[in-house]
Amino acid sequence: MKPTSTAPTPSAPVPLCDIQAQYRGLKDEIDTAVLRVLGSGQAILGPEVAAFEQEAAAFCGARYGIGCGSGTDALVLALRALGIGPGDEVIVPPFTFFASASAVARIGAKPVFVDVDPLTFNIDPNQIEAKITPHTRAIMPVHLFGQCCDMDAIGEIASDHRLYMVEDAAQSFGSEYKGKRCGTLGAVACMSFYPTKNLGALGDAGLVTTDDPDLDKRLRALRVHGSEVKYYHKYVGYNMRLDAVHAAVLRVKLPHVAGWLVAREEAAKRYDALIEGANLHGFMRRPVAMPDRRHTFNQYVVRVPAHHRDPLVKHLKDNSVGVEVYYPLSLHQQECFKYLGYRTGDFPTSEQSTGEVVALPIFPEITEAQQQRVVEVCSAYLRQAVRRAA
Ligand SMILES: *Cc1c(COP(=O)(O)O)cnc(C)c1O
Repeated sequence: MKPTSTAPTPSAPVPLCDIQAQYRGLKDEIDTAVLRVLGSGQAILGPEVAAFEQEAAAFCGARYGIGCGSGTDALVLALRALGIGPGDEVIVPPFTFFASASAVARIGAKPVFVDVDPLTFNIDPNQIEAKITPHTRAIMPVHLFGQCCDMDAIGEIASDHRLYMVEDAAQSFGSEYKGKRCGTLGAVACMSFYPTKNLGALGDAGLVTTDDPDLDKRLRALRVHGSEVKYYHKYVGYNMRLDAVHAAVLRVKLPHVAGWLVAREEAAKRYDALIEGANLHGFMRRPVAMPDRRHTFNQYVVRVPAHHRDPLVKHLKDNSVGVEVYYPLSLHQQECFKYLGYRTGDFPTSEQSTGEVVALPIFPEITEAQQQRVVEVCSAYLRQAVRRAA
C-alpha cells in the first residue's frame, strides 16, 4: 500500500529551536567575550565565572550562585550539599527529563515517584503526602516546560514534614511563581544552560542557587573534588566546574534574557490564537498557564489524542517542521529504574501524557509566518485524517 501522507510542500523548514539566531544577533559581543577568555589563560572557573555567578544569582533574586558543568551536575551537587545519600528517599515526578531522577539515584538515594497534574504536567501536590516515609528527605519540584510547580502547596507539605525542596528549574530560568523568580522558592535550585534552554551556553553549563551561606560553601567545595583548601579533601566531591568560556558567553546573553522570555510568551499567545483560529483546539489541547505563575515557554507542548500523536509527528517531520516528544516514556518505566519495582499503571497521568504530547517549534526569534506554517501543517494532517476515516 502506498503511504497516504502528502508529499512535502516546498516551504522553508521551521526548526524546533534555532540556537544560532542568538549568536547571529550578538556575534560581535560573543566573539569578543570568547577571545577575551582565550587571551586570559584562565580556562576553568576564575573571574569570568565568579562574575557570571553573581549576575545570574542576582537575576534570580538569590544570594549565591554556584556555576557548574551542567544542569545535571547542579542537581547532583544540590542533593549532596544537603547531605542526602544512601538510605534516603527523594520525591520526584516521573514525567520529566531523566536527569531529575538519575541525580537522586547517582548519589545513592532512592527516587520515589509522585504522579503529575494533567493540566500543568507538574508534580501533583495532592499525591505527595501519601508517598512520604521516615526516609524521605526532600521533594524535587520540576518546573516543567517553563512553568513553576504549585510551590505554596508543596512548601506547606515540605515544612510540615521537615523536607528540603530542591527546585529543578533547568527548563525555567526566569519563570515566576506569585511574582518571584524560581531559584529562590526552595532550599536550593538547579539551572541548566544547555544550548536550547531559556539561557543557553555554547555547550554544557549549569548553576545552583541558594540563599544559605553554609550550602554555598559546601556546593563550592563539592564541585572541586570536595576541597576548600586545594589538595585537602573534606568530602569525596566531583569535577563539576564551569568553564570560563561558557561564563563569558552567558554574561553577554544574560541581559537579553528578559526580552527573550517576553518573546517566548508572545509566541505562545500567537500559537494559542492560531490554533483556535484554525479550529484545531478541539483536536489539540493547548498548554495551560496558571494565573499565579509566569510560564516562560521553554517548550510549547500540546496534547493530541494518543492514536494521532505519532502520525502527526511524522507528518510534521515530513513537512520540515521541527517537532519533539518530551517525553515518550515515563521514568518509572525506564529499564534502568526496574529495580525500583514500579509497574505500568502506577502513574496514569504521566503514562497518558507520554502518549499524547507534542512539542511545537518555539524560540524567541520565531516569526508569525513560521508559526502559521506549523499550524497549517497540523491542520493539513487533521483534514487528511478526517478524510481517511470517512
Ligand atoms: C535539561 C534538563 C536537566 C539537565 O540539564 P543538563 O544541563 O542537560 O544536564 C535536568 N532537568 C530537566 C527538567 C531538564 O530539562
